[in-house]
Amino acid sequence: MQGLRWLGVALTVGALAFAGCGDDEAPSGSGAAGGEATTEATPAATAEKFAADTSLGAIQAKGEITIGVKFDVPPFGIKNPQSGEVEGFDIEMGKAVAAKLGVEPKFIEAISDNRIPFLEDGTADLILSTMTINEERVGQINFSDPYFIARGRVLVPGDSDITGVADLAGKNVCTALGSTYEANLKKQAPEAKLKLVDSYSECFELVQNGAVDAVSTDDVILTGMIIQDETLKLVGDQLTQEPYGAGIKKDDQEMTDFVNGVFTELKDNGTWLKVYDEWVGKYTGEPGEPPTIGVDEAVELVKNN
Ligand code: GLU
Repeated sequence: MQGLRWLGVALTVGALAFAGCGDDEAPSGSGAAGGEATTEATPAATAEKFAADTSLGAIQAKGEITIGVKFDVPPFGIKNPQSGEVEGFDIEMGKAVAAKLGVEPKFIEAISDNRIPFLEDGTADLILSTMTINEERVGQINFSDPYFIARGRVLVPGDSDITGVADLAGKNVCTALGSTYEANLKKQAPEAKLKLVDSYSECFELVQNGAVDAVSTDDVILTGMIIQDETLKLVGDQLTQEPYGAGIKKDDQEMTDFVNGVFTELKDNGTWLKVYDEWVGKYTGEPGEPPTIGVDEAVELVKNN
């Protein structure tokens, strides 16, 4: 069974802290593949300069890149209630992109249903919000190559009789509006009664108070719920594969190449693994490996779900 093994690591979400790759520790080095294995920031003065009439040039002129992330999805994007800072796997990817551009990251909340509109209307320069690459979305925006591959699962209260997706018929199942699970669940659990909400924290509350019988979404998001409430559990096998890509405005090839270069460097110089261990492996006990597939293969993977 492809399951996240729960290690019973107790923590307060507010206390989530990432020590391995802070603001000033994003990688530097040049070019896409095989950058130097260093974790020092690229100082603004030495970052590659982009032409003023390109989106990367405009971001450099502003000194800031606006990145849409989740605020309520530990361990990928969570707003730390104590510090007010956002933290998580997606945040670390965003900090690395900003550092390489020599600008500050500004993180804004992008819930599942806002991600594409935020790119289209310029609210966000980049989306790092647990976003699956699929054919429909590839028609609307550009994606980086996958930087993580999640798996669809089902989460239920500890005392539930539901043992997997086949038991969801007639049950109330929560997921996020605008997520891939609207379609995933219609296909794999056509008799389930879907409760579509804006944010995963709503699903979390609804399953905790018994208003829904289950939540279905990516394993890492569900693991974040178990981190906060150990009485919840994952059941059944994986439903889908969900390769995450950074969302970029349609046809902005320069930005796409740039982000791919940063991700390749993170994957090659060991930073990706460090970030994985800190934000995912620590909780699941599963070893991580950076994805090596591109966007086209990601689309194929999802088609076979
Ligand atoms: N990865 C899935 C998606 O992009 C589910 C997670 C989410 O809604 O953010 O739709």
